[in-house]
Amino acid sequence: MNIYKKDFPIFQNTSIIFLDSAASTQKPRCVIQELVDFYSTSYANVHRGSCDLANIATQKYENARQKVANFIHAPVKQVIFTKGATESINLVASGFSRLLKTGDEVLISESEHHANFVPWQQACLLSGATFKVVQTNKDGQLDIADFKAKLSKKTKIVSLTHLSNVLGVKNPIEELIELAHNVGAMVLIDGSQSIAHMPIDVQALNCDFFVFSGHKLYGPTGIGVLYGKKEALNQLPPYQYGGDMIKTVSIEETTFSDIPNKFEAGTPPFVEAIGLGVAIDYLSQIGMKQIETSEKQLTHYLLERLTEIPSISFMGTDTNIKQGIVSFTVNGIHPSDIAFALGKQHICVRVGHHCAIPIHECFKSSVSLRVSLGLYNDTEDIDAFITALKKAITLFE
Ligand code: PLP
Repeated sequence: MNIYKKDFPIFQNTSIIFLDSAASTQKPRCVIQELVDFYSTSYANVHRGSCDLANIATQKYENARQKVANFIHAPVKQVIFTKGATESINLVASGFSRLLKTGDEVLISESEHHANFVPWQQACLLSGATFKVVQTNKDGQLDIADFKAKLSKKTKIVSLTHLSNVLGVKNPIEELIELAHNVGAMVLIDGSQSIAHMPIDVQALNCDFFVFSGHKLYGPTGIGVLYGKKEALNQLPPYQYGGDMIKTVSIEETTFSDIPNKFEAGTPPFVEAIGLGVAIDYLSQIGMKQIETSEKQLTHYLLERLTEIPSISFMGTDTNIKQGIVSFTVNGIHPSDIAFALGKQHICVRVGHHCAIPIHECFKSSVSLRVSLGLYNDTEDIDAFITALKKAITLFE
């Protein structure tokens, strides 16, 4: 029995086997309790009140920013709260759509989530820049030769996932960032999947931007993070306009606040940010290195058990390089039928294209089944899943 399961009320209140943490993680009791306590005892809007409640709320919100900064090793002013990874990427891409021009190029990869694909495609349409996509090999790895071939002095931004939400493969981002910087391009790393599975140090990575969502990191929904290097953030125009992001306003002109406020127009999702801070406290007590090690072992066990089933085809054939996420199809049976049969046995997995149609097209499949791990999973969950999967396959064979 996994020792962390008891920290998550959902596992006391239901009999589910939850293998869909890549979509969103379950919440530990301390995060749920913080939301209840904050709304019950300390709630007032941030950055604008004069009473104690408002000051406490502001302090807690800014303290949450500090916790995020420590967690990813970023200077605190370079941590911007958004409502999720999708908004963080849109913020950067919409800024670039005003900075890019015809002749410039944007480089992403085939294994991106739509959140790191569509905003860049649109930024290119708006600006006249060229949209380029690096291929993924059959084993599930980004094709470095193709990356080098498509990268040039024309490339202004490279935007890549750290860990693919379909293939479970980690990109060699240190090497890719260095290659991109050598031609003068900036780099955004989509850390939506890596953030919950490994320690992150944005300064050691040397990326220009790093984004993730709180709800995939055991925190509440509606909160996300954009980290950026100071000069990278300063060159971007504001994403939204309104209260809390201005220095001065007059009929003639408006001037904008410095980062991070420049990008936090309106009432921010501060309760959610405070909840994320508590999730980070919880994870820091366990240690991200420890989480990474045990999830790697569990992924290995999952893959070992899955390879007992000969009719399975993996998305990304190299099973040795997967971390926490495994997608597959079962020959001759529609993934939705299997997911339905698993659901009937209280096993939660994901079925569909997982918001990543281009990578599914690479693997000549429109949909797949995805199993993804969280820190609360254990070998008993995997055994229950494999038994249920074998049963589901015999039903449809
Ligand atoms: N990027 C990746 C790799 C993801 O897996 C996801 C969500 O599944 C996103 C971006 C978008 O995250 P959100 O929907 O929380 O904004």
